[in-house]
This record gives sequence, C-alpha cells and structure tokens, in this order.
Amino acid sequence: MTPAARAVSGIALAAALSACEGSAGPETAPSAFDGQRAWADLVSQVRIGPRPAGSEGSLRVRRLISDRLRQAGWRVEPQRFEARLPDGAEIPMTNLIARLEGESPGRILLGTHFDTKRIADAPDFAGANDGASGVAVLLELARQLRQRPRAWSYTLLFFDGEEALGERITQRDGLYGSRALAARMRDSGEFERVRAFVLIDMVGDSDLNLQISADSAGWLASLWREAAAKLGRGELTDPDPVRLVDDHTPFVRLGLEPVLALIDFQFGARWTPGPFWHTAADDLRSVSAESLNSVGEILVQFLVELEAHLEAGRDANSRR
Ligand SMILES: [Zn+2]
Repeated sequence: MTPAARAVSGIALAAALSACEGSAGPETAPSAFDGQRAWADLVSQVRIGPRPAGSEGSLRVRRLISDRLRQAGWRVEPQRFEARLPDGAEIPMTNLIARLEGESPGRILLGTHFDTKRIADAPDFAGANDGASGVAVLLELARQLRQRPRAWSYTLLFFDGEEALGERITQRDGLYGSRALAARMRDSGEFERVRAFVLIDMVGDSDLNLQISADSAGWLASLWREAAAKLGRGELTDPDPVRLVDDHTPFVRLGLEPVLALIDFQFGARWTPGPFWHTAADDLRSVSAESLNSVGEILVQFLVELEAHLEAGRDANSRR
C-alpha cells in the first residue's frame, strides 16, 4: 500500500469508527473512485460489439471482467448453468461471482448485468448504458474496495441473460442469470450471510436520474439518499420510488430483504423507458464519464455509511 493510500484508508476507517461510537454520522468519505478509469472500461466493452447471451461478444466481455477483477486482487468464480427459454430450448449461460474477504463473514453484495439486448432493428447494438455502464462502475469500485480496510466481506455479481429474448422481461423470459444465482444462494443458505444487496443498471445516461425500485428496503434507500445528499448530489436520485423489474427481482421474490435497486429507466428523456432504451442510440454519445463518476462516488460514500450502520447493529446485538 502506498503512503497516500494508507492515509486515505485511515480516514475511511476513522469515519467508520466515529459512527460506531455513537457520535455524528460518518464524515464524507475520501473518494478514490476514478470516473475516467470506469469510462475506459465502458469503452472497452462497447468496442467488443454486441454482447448478448451465448455470443462471442459475451465470452469476450466475461474475459475482460475476469481479467480486471483478478488484476485488482479479487477471487472470480463462474457459475455456468443451462437457461431454459420460453420455447423449452436450453442454452448455456455464465454468471461471474467475485469475492473479497473482510473482517466479518457477513457480506455486502453489489450486482449488475453484462449482457446486451439482441435487437433485430439494431444488429450492432452497443449497450453503452444498458449493459456496459453498470459493469464499468463495479469494476472501478472493485479496485477502490481493494485499497481500504473492510469490516465486511464483499461479493460482486455480474449477471448473464438479464435481457429477454422477446420484447419485454416476463416470468419466464429474461433475468436468466439472476434467477439461477438467487435460487442457488437461497438453497445453499447463503442468503443468511447477506447484509445488503445493491443492484445497479443503466447508470451511464448523460442526463442521470436514478430511480429507486419500490421493492427496495426503506432503510437502504434512506442511507443512499443521505450519502448522495452529503456529497451535494441528492438531485441525481428521483424523489419517487418506481416499481421496476430487474436482476434484484428474483432475490426479492425468494425472500432476500435488504435489497436496494438503482436504475435510470428514463434513458434520453424524463419519461419511462425513454427514447434511447433498446435502440441504436444507446451508444457512447448518450453516456458520460461524469455520470459514472457520480454514481461511483455516491456508492463509495454509501458503503462507508452502510458499513458503519451494520457495525453499530452488530455491536448492539453483541451487548444483548
Ligand atoms: Zn435492457
């Protein structure tokens, strides 16, 4: 660790500790989130071309994600599974799961999807926002998390097959990766160790307006708004929660409670889903490094607050 990095982690730790002592909440976290590095990872994904489930592009983006994570010191495990399509056919898909251990076995999960929509009218669909943006933010966050002390363990989830083959996501079409992983985690008892699961999707829109899905846990939504307000970026999150179906939905359906889903589902204009959603306009001109940076910096601050909040809860429990 460099002296500068050590100084930064020291501040983050001090902030977390001060919250445990029951004084005022954590101070503003020093952000080592680098929006330009996140942007470079977004561009690398777009350059691969379309990345729908089962494609050559999918294989290449998975390699890119795995390489970046391993370089950053994370353990990466693929989850291969057969996805059953609505017509009964099965195709192989692969989620990527990356782990970083902290002091506590309790885990904080962060997830996003890496696949892009197969679109007949737009065969070169780039998915700069819908696909690449969430991955870019989580890859940069992975580098940032490795640099600081962690009271909790982290898992990053990169989902395959979020997109439906048909027009819209239904109970049987779309969310293939998250349905497979949520079922596996519930069945293996892993849900019990999850302290929070944060899903991000479509977070690169130049006109950023994050929406919180209405099935998110209220306390996590409040922590998010507080973290954003502390950074003077409260206006980037829409005040009204909206019902949104995304990769968090299978986890909520299977009973995971501490879930927060953040999605800008108003792409290119302030109506849902927006004029750019699932069109050729979802390219580099519609997204910005500034939006990636804003989401990343709020996430870093949010995680400091979340860790302090969980730490305070654990202390209270151990005194009982
Ligand atoms: Zn999509």
